[in-house]
Amino acid sequence: MATESRIALMKERFYSTLASLRTLTNAKNTAYIEDERYKELIEEVSTAKITARKTSRDYWLLRRYDVLTIDQKSKLIFPVKDIISTIIYYACDSELFDILHEAHIQIGHGGRDRMMKVVGSHYKNITRKDIETYLELCEPCQQKQKNIKKGIVVKPIISSECNSRCQVDLIDFQSQPDGDNKFIMVYQDHLTKFVVLKPLSTLYWTYLLYLVLLQYFSLITAENFPTELLRI
Ligand SMILES: [Zn+2]
Repeated sequence: MATESRIALMKERFYSTLASLRTLTNAKNTAYIEDERYKELIEEVSTAKITARKTSRDYWLLRRYDVLTIDQKSKLIFPVKDIISTIIYYACDSELFDILHEAHIQIGHGGRDRMMKVVGSHYKNITRKDIETYLELCEPCQQKQKNIKKGIVVKPIISSECNSRCQVDLIDFQSQPDGDNKFIMVYQDHLTKFVVLKPLSTLYWTYLLYLVLLQYFSLITAENFPTELLRI
């Protein structure tokens, strides 16, 4: 599918998911601003700004909103406290997808928290949920998630009998030897966790043990374990 039509489809799905989420939650105190409401707010705030005798509703509006007009286009913004503050906009519904998509691509398919940081520094009313809704529709990200999930599923090794499986490790204390002993072999039964410790004196035996470990990838069966090593 061509990129444009893929994005168009993604956009369509995004808005339909958003609509059903909003119907489900039916929250009164929501962050989103539908396009019609956005225009009304610009009108209301512009009027409140120039009204000499302000009502409490006017003050309420002016605490939350301001209007910035550039090239005869009015934008709803969060009131700027000082001249060095960056302008934080309110996004209307129809802009939401494009803002999220642009930010997501810009940060190389970045995850939720990175997007929240980027988008949050420019927009006041884009929520974590909006970002999550968007991310669930991004195919490359979903594919990446699937691969990660596949990777972390580790099938546990189950042992039903004592001495049927063991794990072998080596403790190296060459820098502080105890008499002739410079290594300790740790043999642990997989089921019972019973541990056998065996001091080793020379590198030769250690090397031999390493060969065994390499051969069995650290996890070897007790039947196969060379018993002569335990008698060293
Ligand atoms: Zn993505």
